[in-house]
Parts: sequence; C-alpha cells; structure tokens
Amino acid sequence: METPSTARLSELALERVQLGIFAVDKNYRIVLWNRFMSEHSGLAADAVCGQSVFECFPDLPHAWLKRKFDTVFLLHSGSFSSWQHRPWLLPFEHDCPITGSFDHMRQDCAFMPLIENGEVVAVCVTIADVTELAAAWQEKERALDALRDSSHRDALTGLFNRRYITQRLATEYGAWLQRGEPFSVLLLDIDHFKHVNDTHGHPVGDAVLQNVAKTVASQLRAADMLGRFGGEEFIVILPGCPMSGARTVGEKIRLAVENDSLILPNATLRITVSVGGATIFEGVDDADWLVGEADHALYDAKRSGRNRVCITAVHA
Ligand code: GH3
Ligand code: MG
Ligand code: MG
Repeated sequence: METPSTARLSELALERVQLGIFAVDKNYRIVLWNRFMSEHSGLAADAVCGQSVFECFPDLPHAWLKRKFDTVFLLHSGSFSSWQHRPWLLPFEHDCPITGSFDHMRQDCAFMPLIENGEVVAVCVTIADVTELAAAWQEKERALDALRDSSHRDALTGLFNRRYITQRLATEYGAWLQRGEPFSVLLLDIDHFKHVNDTHGHPVGDAVLQNVAKTVASQLRAADMLGRFGGEEFIVILPGCPMSGARTVGEKIRLAVENDSLILPNATLRITVSVGGATIFEGVDDADWLVGEADHALYDAKRSGRNRVCITAVHA
C-alpha cells in the first residue's frame, strides 16, 4: 500500500496525539478540533467547527482568552498559560486516580500563531493534560508544608518551639520599630513542677505539660502565638497588645490553669502557673531584652508567692 501524503499523515497524527488541539480564526470561530478535544468535550468537530468558541463554551474566561487570541494575532508570537496560573481552560474530567482533591483535568495551554503569507490566519491552542504532574507537585508542596510546620513545633505539646518563637519575636520587634505596633510577651512557668515529676513520675509530668499547653491555648486569640520556651516554661506573644491587655490575658491564663484539673487513676492534680509579662516600650534594644524583662517579672511572681501575674513596670 502506498504511504499516504504528508497532509494526510499530519491529519492522522492530529487525531492520535494525546494533546487537545484546536484553532480559531480572527472571529474566534473554531476551525480545527482534534479527537482529544471531541472526546473530552463530548462535542464532535462537526458540531463546533464554524461556531464561535465563546458561544460553544459560554463558561470560558471570556476577557482573558480574547486578549490571548488578540495578542497572538497582533504580535505574531505565541504565549503560554500554566495550570498553576489557570488550572484549566475547559473543565474536562481527568482519569488520573491519584489526584487528591482535583475536580478537573489540570491543563497547560499554548497559544500559537498559524501564519500563511505573513499573516496570522488562525490561533492554534494546545491543551496538555498535566493532572498527574500537578498532583505530584501538590503532594510535594503538602509534604514540604508539613515538614516546615513540624520544624516549628515542639514534639511533646505541639506548640511552637523556642527557635520559631524567637524568629516571631524578632518579626514583632521589627513591626514595632517600623510601624510602632505594640506587642507584649508573657512568660509562664509551672509552679512546683519538680514535685509533680517526683511524686507521680515523668510520664504524668509530660501529661501535665500537654494539659497546661491546651488550657493556655484555649485562652488566646488566633493572632497570639504560644510556644514552649523551656522544660516547663511557656511563652506567649500578644501582637497589638498594650500593658493592660497583657495583664488581663495573663490573669485569664492563670485562672484557667488554676481551675483546670488532671484526673489520674488515684489522684486529681491541680496545677498553677506563675506569669511574668512585659510590653514593648521606647528604648528596648531587641526582642531578647523584652523577654528578659518578662523573666524578671516572672521571678517577682514566683518570689511573691507563685500562682500570680506580675507585669514589669519599668516603662510605667
Ligand atoms: P518553681 O515553682 O520555682 O518553678 O519550681 P519547679 O519545681 O517548677 O521548678 P524547677 O525549675 O526546679 O523544675 C522544673 C522541672 O521540670 C525540672 C525538670 O525535670 C522538669 N522538666 C523539664 N522538662 C520536662 C519534660 O519535658 N517533661 C517532664 N515530665 N518534666 C520536665
Ligand atoms: Mg522553670
Ligand atoms: Mg517551675
């Protein structure tokens, strides 16, 4: 059998290729529609050729797509749209089983000028199904997010760890320097915690730490940041919070911990915390300095009997 002409072979290739290919003329009328497009849209070439692409598919991003076509006609050069910028051009179903939450096929689209005698006679659009690639990329992003998050967390309590809290303190300090946004810091230390360990054992001590973490977290707003600063020491950053607010939050935390209890098989544990606080003020050199102020206040709270809140009065 004789090999068909190049034109016929091109036609056959166009039908076989695993890529959506269509073209529109200057009036946005569809002039080419390959089998991939028919199969995924459910519309055969006969049904769409000669019709405006915008009338066939009213949900297309009209203004954006028109601009894309017009630019190719005008500049004689192609352009590209990645799935990350626009997940799909046409809402085709995908047949990729490991796509997580993807509702539609992810598509990379290229827009190319078809030029004859120096004139752009049509714009050809290719739609590549990149669903699998996009799913893998999304999975990698999720894993990276989880890794990033776990590197910010303390394993026992799930609170932010000291390293991360230190970074956030520096950020808050920077915001105060640049925009004068105040913030406060509270340091919390469990009272007589060594006694808990000595009497009930280390695992119970760990449970107490987890319980206190939960109780303190329940007293905070979404913007506040709670971290484990040391063994049985916690830190709270209160963005936008002046001294009076710091005292109120400190007192709320102290009371919530005091009123909470941890029920053990043969005992009920009551825990208290001492709280020291400080609010940023003119003359503080860095965030560490402020934490030092809160630590002095915490020492005062311990010395004056524990289960109490002291806020540094250095700037009062
Ligand atoms: P104060 O009221 O003065 O704060 O007395 P305290 O007993 O709480 O203070 P101290 O600093 O003497 O004791 C802290 C204890 O916390 C000692 C340490 O063994 C214990 N600790 C530190 N990290 C952990 C931990 O992850 N789990 C447990 N169970 N205990 C811990
Ligand atoms: Mg301590
Ligand atoms: Mg303690």
